[in-house]
Amino acid sequence: MPVLTDRPIPLPVPATHHHLESLAAEVHRMYFSKYPPLPVRWGQQISRKNRRTIRLGSYNHHTAEMRVHPILNRHTTPAFFIQSIIYHEYLHHVLGPSHNRRFHKAERQFRYYRESQEWLRRNLWALLGRKKSVLRARVVVDAPPTPQMALF
Ligand SMILES: [Zn+2]
Repeated sequence: MPVLTDRPIPLPVPATHHHLESLAAEVHRMYFSKYPPLPVRWGQQISRKNRRTIRLGSYNHHTAEMRVHPILNRHTTPAFFIQSIIYHEYLHHVLGPSHNRRFHKAERQFRYYRESQEWLRRNLWALLGRKKSVLRARVVVDAPPTPQMALF
């Protein structure tokens, strides 16, 4: 084998485990194909220890863009969980900002809804950077609707 002495050193790439666009494309294809696909991005990483709440996903009605919390971009997060967040945000696009009965009913149509709930229940403490024993926190998937968001 030739000795490659001047091979360029690869640039450090940010540790990314999940390809968000692929996960979103699958959710779109399976559930929302009659709507145009929405852009999705990882949110900004803000390091904070001992959170009490964490917002795992959000949808912006003005830009029609979804964001997923970058804390989920790790190998321990199952792909179906990230897709459940994307699915939830797509529902806001389709049904509006309210988490009403219709919304919850639609949310349960996601194939891995129960698995996602279960995974969250077991892993929330880790997402919040807390010890299991002191967990008294809650999850906010997205912001409560503000009057400006209620455009539907
Ligand atoms: Zn929501």
